[in-house]
Amino acid sequence: MEPVNIIGAGLAGSEAAWQVARAGVPVILHEMRPLVGTFAHKTGDCAEMVCSNSFRSDDDVMNAVGQLHWEMRAAGGLIMAMADRHRLPAGGALAVDREAFSQAVTETLRAEPLIQIRPGEITDLPADGNWIVATGPLTSDALAGAIRRVTGTEALAFFDAIAPIVHAETIDMSVAWEQSRYDKGESDAERRAYINCPMTRAQYEAFIDALLAAEKTEFREGETAGYFDGCLPIEVMAERGRETLRHGPMKPVGLTNAHKPQEKPHAVVQLRRDNALGTLYNIVGFQTKMKYGAQAQVFRMIPGLENAGFARLGGIHRNSFLNSPTLLDDRMRLRTRPNLRFAGQVTGVEGYVESAAMGLLAGRMAAAEARGTDLAPPPFTTAMGALVNHITGGAEAKTFQPMNVNFGLFPPLDDARGGRRGRKDRYPAYTQRAKDDFTAWLAAR
Ligand SMILES: Cc1cc2nc3c(=O)[nH]c(=O)nc-3n(C[C@H](O)[C@H](O)[C@H](O)COP(=O)(O)OP(=O)(O)OC[C@H]3O[C@@H](n4cnc5c(N)ncnc54)[C@H](O)[C@@H]3O)c2cc1C
Repeated sequence: MEPVNIIGAGLAGSEAAWQVARAGVPVILHEMRPLVGTFAHKTGDCAEMVCSNSFRSDDDVMNAVGQLHWEMRAAGGLIMAMADRHRLPAGGALAVDREAFSQAVTETLRAEPLIQIRPGEITDLPADGNWIVATGPLTSDALAGAIRRVTGTEALAFFDAIAPIVHAETIDMSVAWEQSRYDKGESDAERRAYINCPMTRAQYEAFIDALLAAEKTEFREGETAGYFDGCLPIEVMAERGRETLRHGPMKPVGLTNAHKPQEKPHAVVQLRRDNALGTLYNIVGFQTKMKYGAQAQVFRMIPGLENAGFARLGGIHRNSFLNSPTLLDDRMRLRTRPNLRFAGQVTGVEGYVESAAMGLLAGRMAAAEARGTDLAPPPFTTAMGALVNHITGGAEAKTFQPMNVNFGLFPPLDDARGGRRGRKDRYPAYTQRAKDDFTAWLAAR
């Protein structure tokens, strides 16, 4: 049988290789480390965790990432099995002994007769064969160049400049209102496409003070700050002058406060819809290097966001990722070159768990193809399905930025209460529905 070739033995590629082999299909796993390094990886092991040693919450009832753990375990995932074996005490989180974990992944893959690990960098995209590209946020320059030649230069980003994303239900609409600047748009929906949060002069001044005082993260060695031209962090804009933001992303022009039409806001923070479901909104132009704790505090000073729940906080990192909503089909294949499937962080998911989950799915899909069958993704009521649906179609392509799994990606339930207090009912209902639907998806194979 023709093998599946996988480029990159990180979190996604290792899981993909395991899934392909479990389906009885041979695998060649190409890994450039230790021959060619990256600024973040330190070893030649598979599935190296480059920073934190945590797979985040293991609560599969109240937490979306915990639900994703559950699905990966149910699907016989290697990453979860090795994480469970090398677990460290960490409260409700799944933290691991990172060295023991990645050594165990490496040894398990090496011991599998259907898997051949082949050292070396792949520098071009193969024209035929069944391939999975799982080269991660630090895809080597040569391969990134090849991807850009195939997808177009705009379609592969080198940095993510992430603005925070808010759960729509947690925005106080008695303060905020829906309106596009100058009421622009053909349809009523377009004229109401943004959510606006007004600020008085005093609120604006206090907000600028908080931005300037907030703790920031530094770039690591090897990360360049070349993004600075097009995409300044808000705190850097604030440092350039107290009025800069009021003339930039917070300008108050073309907007009328629906609750107080006579009162001209001094500044306005705008939020833009981030997914087709309308459950998530990003704060426009608010990419930031503030530390996470500081971000939540500072952003909750914005009128209307006092009780905001964040689906993800902002950040700016070195990160190669595709504009997947325009480039990939729902089988994670490049539309223009369907022999190439993408998996992991390079598809625009964010985090160890999400990357491994996309590897799991891509591996199963590639194995199905090698066997002459087809595998549809899990329904988007599951954590894995919600995530793959988001990156391959549900997300706004124009503003696409890497995404963590979160309940905002799940289709709403008709009968569960909304708002912050409704979470106690809703989250268990989401995760129960996800478990039922994931189990049915697995059983249908
Ligand atoms: C500095 C930094 C810190 C991070 N911190 C965290 C964190 O704390 N928590 C978290 O959840 N996520 C973190 N991430 C994101 C993390 O990288 C991903 O969650 C995860 O590693 C992605 O898995 P992956 O398999 O897609 O990529 P990786 O795990 O990076 O795997 C990609 C593999 O492909 C190989 N490769 C690249 N190009 C080629 C090529 N041309 N030929 C052959 N092999 C190649 C690489 O050597 C690597 O082994 C961080 C990322 C960075 C860059």
